[in-house]
Amino acid sequence: MPWGDDSADTRLHGTSIADSVLDLVGNTPLVRLKRTSEIHGIECVLAMKMETTNPGGSSKDRPAIEMILAAERDGLLKPGGTIVEPTSGNTGVGLAIAAAQRGYKCVFVMTDKNGPEKITLLRAYGAEVIVCPVAVPPEDPQSYYKVAERITNERNAFRPNQYANPNNPLAHEKTTGPELWRQTGGRITHFVAGAGTCGTITGTARYLKQQNPNIKVVAADPEMSVFSGGSGRPYLVEGVGEDFFPAAWDASLYDEIIPISDEASFLTARQVSREEGILIGGSGGLAVAAALQVAKRADPDDIVVVLNPDSGRGYLSRIFDDSWMATFGFLRECDQCIAAVLDTRGDTPSLLYVNPSDTVRQTIEIMRANGVSQLPVCKNTPPFANAEVSGSVDELDLMESVYQDPSIMDTPVEKVMSPKLPTVGVGQKVALAVEMLDKSPALLVLSGGRPLSVLTRTDLLTYFEAVANG
Ligand code: PMP
Repeated sequence: MPWGDDSADTRLHGTSIADSVLDLVGNTPLVRLKRTSEIHGIECVLAMKMETTNPGGSSKDRPAIEMILAAERDGLLKPGGTIVEPTSGNTGVGLAIAAAQRGYKCVFVMTDKNGPEKITLLRAYGAEVIVCPVAVPPEDPQSYYKVAERITNERNAFRPNQYANPNNPLAHEKTTGPELWRQTGGRITHFVAGAGTCGTITGTARYLKQQNPNIKVVAADPEMSVFSGGSGRPYLVEGVGEDFFPAAWDASLYDEIIPISDEASFLTARQVSREEGILIGGSGGLAVAAALQVAKRADPDDIVVVLNPDSGRGYLSRIFDDSWMATFGFLRECDQCIAAVLDTRGDTPSLLYVNPSDTVRQTIEIMRANGVSQLPVCKNTPPFANAEVSGSVDELDLMESVYQDPSIMDTPVEKVMSPKLPTVGVGQKVALAVEMLDKSPALLVLSGGRPLSVLTRTDLLTYFEAVANG
């Protein structure tokens, strides 16, 4: 029993009745991904640590409880006190469970990137939830970090701060690592996990490498997150990747960091759910996608363990909803879809755009040279072929702005740009594009969650003409 008190109630002695739900955290099972291994021609043993069997349904029950018990010991949390935490949901559930057992109030601060189910779930545990916009930098007063800071001060609350709290990695060092060592009979050769606060990967790695320094630890990271060299945005997978380095980040413990796209994460989550009968979320899909790469290179005697942090139940209206997936160009919902319009146009698939810092003069030149009347304004961060869209420019709007004030020719385009173009998925129906182009002169087409191309009324006319001509 890693967290519970030894029950004083003698009636429980000699039974396997847990004294409270806290005693049920940890000791999660390890299961072989047999079908997945067959399908991918994997020869080593590929196994999944099923963190879904924790009472709150995720790996975050472990650090949540560890942080609360430590705060009680340190006198930071007094009876009846309030806990405030910015969380994408799973840590919140763990904290809410511990709070319910030990009599605390909880306030959670989340971003609008999180699925609606996660918000409802926390409210179901009796917590207060505040939702903040994701599209602001961490130092913005509206960011979820800053809002959490303000509320902590206002209510004199305890803030576990999972991003800085050493008890977060410690929980995994004390439990996840030893469980894996025991469950594999000390034969684990590779450990693969997604990294968010880095508590899981760092804590588990610390323990495993102490037992056997040859064990390879592999972090799976969303493309565009800072851990694998991106700027921190944009990506859609929840709970993993960051735009800063949390306290538990320790590159000396990671043998490899594998960037995985949103597309691979989501499609892998769907595949594992269907083929293995294990419903996993996007960050689980991300971890499995990385583990498949590791397992394909591993020796037949190796044991590769991938940690699945939570269940797909929290993502039913996103990853497991075909319409939502099509909106971002992850799935095709029809044969004659927007992709066919782009095929008819037959130009290069690379996205034409201007940088926010390009001047109005440069923007006009790019539009003229390429014969286009609309352009997205995006920042592209190598090494990944993804772009962060910040707005758009339109010939007509630019003409009016320059006419009103000719001196703006040398100002950055971000100062005069229009809002972002509405988006459609490359696999959505042409009828949808027709409807949307009624209101907007152009649309931004997404493929695999990334901007692919701009679609205009002329593109549709050319397509209809080609269809009519057979
Ligand atoms: N997946 C999900 C869904 C999560 O909520 C988290 C926690 N942020 C992680 C993965 C990553 O775990 P850690 O914070 O320990 O790096």
